[in-house]
Order: sequence, then C-alpha cells, then structure tokens
Amino acid sequence: MKREFAVIGLGRFGGSICRELSAEGMQVLAIDNDEDKINEYKNIASHAVIADSTDEATLRELGLKNIDHVIVAIGDNIQASILTTVVLTDLGIKKITVKAQNDYHEKILNKIGADQIVHPERDMGKRIAHNIISSNILDYLELSDDHSIVEVKVGKRMLGKTMIELDIRANYGCNVVAIKREKEINVSPSADDELREDDILIVIGSDKDISRFEKHLVIDENH
Ligand code: ATP
Repeated sequence: MKREFAVIGLGRFGGSICRELSAEGMQVLAIDNDEDKINEYKNIASHAVIADSTDEATLRELGLKNIDHVIVAIGDNIQASILTTVVLTDLGIKKITVKAQNDYHEKILNKIGADQIVHPERDMGKRIAHNIISSNILDYLELSDDHSIVEVKVGKRMLGKTMIELDIRANYGCNVVAIKREKEINVSPSADDELREDDILIVIGSDKDISRFEKHLVIDENH
C-alpha cells in the first residue's frame, strides 16, 4: 500500500520534499495558502489544495486525520507553523515533522508535540562548512547534539597505511564503520586493510573526537 503524506507549505524546502516523495511514488497531499504555489504543484502532487493550515475545520475537511505523516514546511511565519502543529496534534496525526527556523521555535515545537524537528539550512550550512575546511571532508551528518558521522577522502597522511597502523579508534576515539573503494563498500574493515588513493572512510564518533581525527589525519597542510 502506498504511504500517504501531506506537505504543508511549498517553499523551496517543502516543495523539494513534495517533489521527491511524489517521484518515489508516494501519495502526497500538497497544501499552501498561495494559489500560485498550488498551480505549480498540482501536476506533481497527488492532490494540491489551497488552504490555510492554521484552520482546524479546513484540515478536518481535507481528511488530514487519515494521513500517516505530515510535514510542516512553513518557514518565515513562525506563528503559522506553531498553530498548524497544534492543530495537527489535536487531529491526532501519527507523525509530524516540522521545519524550525531557530532554537526558540524548536523549543516550542518540542513542547507542543512535534515528532521530528528539522533545521535544513543549519544542517546544510554545517555540511558545507566542513567541506570548505577541507575538500577531503565529503559529507557530515549530525546524529545528535554531540555525535556525528563523517565521510572523508583518504588524504596524504593516511595513504598506504593499514587500519592498525592508523589505529583511529585508539588514537582519536572514533570508529571507521566502512571503507568505500570504487563501487564496493566494505562494512567491516580489518586491521590489515591498506588505504589507497580515492578510498573513502565513513567515521562515527563524538564531535570532539571527529574534530581531532580531521585535524590530524584528514585536513592536508595546504588546505
Ligand atoms: P524555503 O526557504 O523553504 O523556501 P521559506 O522560509 O521561504 O522556506 P515561506 O515562504 O515562509 O518559506 O513559507 C513556505 C510556504 O508556506 C509558502 O509558500 C507560504 O505560502 C506557505 N504558508 C505560509 N503560511 C501558511 C498557512 N497558514 N497555510 C498554508 N500555507 C502557508
């Protein structure tokens, strides 16, 4: 059975979620109070409706109660985002994901029962900042407030060394969970695996440990 989603707010973020879910074959109800946005998405989403999401009666009429997962992607209007989330919790929606503009917004969303709070601009800013520090840092994903996962390209300092020679766990406290080599992914690297040029390591650990690992092994001097 196709899963059903609703995306409220079709700005760049909500619009992109709506496009991707639809491209994956999901049923998506797109809602925005701007007619132009609805015209833009009427051929992309399964249904696209002009509505003010802060109005409980309207959301009831739209049958939102029966939708598995609602994504609130209203950006600038924090008040509308909060009110919409309250209405959705009152309707008993199983899963509500909300885009937060700032920490204050996030705190309130937590209190009123949002299940998942996302900060796309902040997260993307962090990922890009890490890549700017070194082009060897390919990706960076926050797991919690103080743990992350990074994808790094083997730099000069790691080239030709074995995992035991580098002993990343003992020296930096983080774990190499996989090595990507061309199209292969080795999810349990062994001690005598020797690192080659263009290998990519997936490393997990606390932000403090990852930062030490990056400084010592990943960021080349000329970066
Ligand atoms: P992005 O950076 O993702 O584009 P944004 O900050 O620009 O986000 P906004 O333009 O503030 O996002 O809002 C996203 C959409 O939410 C807009 O298309 C806007 O029309 C819609 N929206 C705002 N308030 C409501 C509301 N009460 N009901 C329905 N849609 C709303």
